[in-house]
Amino acid sequence: MNIDDDIWPNVEANPWKYRTGRVGIRGIIWHATRSGQAQFSPETEYGATLNWFKSPNNRIEHPQGAYSGMSNYVIGGGRICQAVPDDLVPAFSAGVHDYHALSVEMAQPLSDIPYDPRDIALARQFAQEKSTEYGFSLGRLTYVDGLNSQWPGEVGHEDTKQGRRSGKSDPGQLFWGAYLSGGDDMSAEGEKEIIRILNGIWNVQAGDVDPNTPDWENAFEQRRALLAKLEVVINRLETIEAKLHAHSH
Ligand SMILES: [Zn+2]
Repeated sequence: MNIDDDIWPNVEANPWKYRTGRVGIRGIIWHATRSGQAQFSPETEYGATLNWFKSPNNRIEHPQGAYSGMSNYVIGGGRICQAVPDDLVPAFSAGVHDYHALSVEMAQPLSDIPYDPRDIALARQFAQEKSTEYGFSLGRLTYVDGLNSQWPGEVGHEDTKQGRRSGKSDPGQLFWGAYLSGGDDMSAEGEKEIIRILNGIWNVQAGDVDPNTPDWENAFEQRRALLAKLEVVINRLETIEAKLHAHSH
């Protein structure tokens, strides 16, 4: 695909914004920009994100070395930008997970504003091309743990260990609903997706809970997340059933 904008020369001048030491490219981490500016168009949101990625003020001091908020790519207003080359790790989009997957910020000013359909189309094209280029399989992962055991696939920041710890909710259901809908291979893909979701639920239940130090706040969050996932499963099953029903008549 054609990369419309390349801000790597600006990013490279701020070395705290990227790391070497990539472990692999086995999937995609999806994010939403969420500037908080309700009046922003996708184009404006995209431009603002590029400016922030280039800015020397995008810097967080830390005893073990400064870092920033970055991703490999930004999509918005029908355009795509490369910020950090694939072989380098943006420091950071999702902490420990960034060493295993490419990260993409999708333009969305607020969590309840729908994504631009042009951007959803670009996201799909991007995922297809990177999947072919690096040989990883696509499909939503409903959880990636701190050991990155679940790759390959695609995950929302909200469903990573790092994202849940930080209370992230991006890119959210407005992204997944649009991104995963459509296409005629709905039944086969839908079935696979449900299996992946159920696997993700199993992973949340089986791992990551320390029985010696119960974290009730986190446990509540996990239950809430599980219920949300089950709702997705039910919706998908209903859609598949409706499709099968339509085909049989
Ligand atoms: Zn994020």
